[in-house]
Amino acid sequence: MSGRKRKTKRWLQEHRSDHYVRRADAEGYRSRAAFKLEQIDRSDRLLGSGMTVVELGAAPGGWSQYLARRLSNKGRLITLDLLPMQAIPGVEHLQGDFTDPSVRELLKQKINNVPVDLVISDMAPNITGIAATDEARRAELWSDLLEFSREILTPGGSLLLKLFAGDEAQQLRQRCKQLFSKSLVRKPDASRARSSEYYLLNQGFRGR
Ligand code: SAM
Repeated sequence: MSGRKRKTKRWLQEHRSDHYVRRADAEGYRSRAAFKLEQIDRSDRLLGSGMTVVELGAAPGGWSQYLARRLSNKGRLITLDLLPMQAIPGVEHLQGDFTDPSVRELLKQKINNVPVDLVISDMAPNITGIAATDEARRAELWSDLLEFSREILTPGGSLLLKLFAGDEAQQLRQRCKQLFSKSLVRKPDASRARSSEYYLLNQGFRGR
């Protein structure tokens, strides 16, 4: 068996025996990722009634399903992804590339000057395998994300984003500390220990 086939087989075995995959099936979630958001929401009281939420990198939609359930038609949820997403009642989905300024402009038009309480991002650029390129792409994406959040968040609002350990993430965290009154690292149980991903929860946006 080739190395690649062996890796795929191991991934499939792990996936099938994963507690969160089985819970996602049982609870009707499209992805096990829903439990990462659930855990952060439970520990940090992320969501409240009537909130306007912008979710970036939403497909296949596990987080969106969780958010839609928690907002229960009392708020507004606008999602964006490179990919199309199967519809979820009450969710407004836009398909496009966040790194494209014209897509960010479209998203702002959709928001239509309504103050946004929470921006969440589970986006990660595709890996090329060339370390310098991958790092530069991440840094650019995070920088765009921070600027976009600064433009649309209401004072006191929050930004939750996925980061990967490294120098660029450290630099972004310094910038977040200036823009928000609290900046907290979160690694929910549902995030695999071997992954260098973690989440940064920024609360109390100081305003533009
Ligand atoms: N949180 C999601 C869930 O619960 O189902 C899973 C998100 S998945 C880990 C990351 C998503 O980010 C992918 O669907 C990918 O297409 C999207 N993405 C990556 N880069 C993007 C970009 N530049 N613009 C929009 N979406 C992007």
